[in-house]
Amino acid sequence: MSKRYSTYLFLGAPGSGKGTQGVTLGSLPTFFHCACGDVFRRLDVRTPLGQTFLSHSSRGELVPDEITIQLWRESIDAAVSAGRFKPDIDRLLLDGIPRNVRQAQLMDEIIDVKRVFHLSCPDREKVVARLKKRALKDNRLDDANEEVIRRRLLAYETESKPLLDHYGDSLITHIDATQPPVKVLRDILDLVVREDSASAA
Ligand code: ADP
Repeated sequence: MSKRYSTYLFLGAPGSGKGTQGVTLGSLPTFFHCACGDVFRRLDVRTPLGQTFLSHSSRGELVPDEITIQLWRESIDAAVSAGRFKPDIDRLLLDGIPRNVRQAQLMDEIIDVKRVFHLSCPDREKVVARLKKRALKDNRLDDANEEVIRRRLLAYETESKPLLDHYGDSLITHIDATQPPVKVLRDILDLVVREDSASAA
């Protein structure tokens, strides 16, 4: 088996800022950002897979695990082939995947999780307000409907949050996601820099 990808995970409710942080950190050398939702949104909605995505996401539900992991793997393999993701020097930043324990198990042999950043935003109203703003800005249909938003938040609570137990306290860093994005970024960078220094020592 080839070497597992050195990985940082972003875990947090929809609207907690995973994407913002992933894109920002991912723009630096030695990081490669992959947002699972973006992989799905790049699908042609006229294809069967595109239709499967649309039917689940429009209801605020997760796409079935096997399909998700297969698509994600293809996207990562393509990034490696194209030289966009260089696993020998880059760290993989994953946002939106794994989204439940089953996915984490399916990914265990591919990724070596070095740290989980839990972007914590207990104030659900704040999250809902952020999502509604994003709906207008990014043309996201699944963010425009309050009922769908509530269902996605529920899916996060019931399916994704158990990942915190799966990875365990020693791998998790809790970050206050109610702070402005620059402060969230500072907290993440503090940790990354500290771990880089420790491994260089
Ligand atoms: P958010 O984090 O705001 O929920 P995403 O862009 O990550 O948004 O995901 C949008 C939709 O894509 C999800 O509601 C779900 O239907 C689907 N999706 C994304 N990632 C996964 C995943 N890992 N497993 C299953 N479905 C996913």
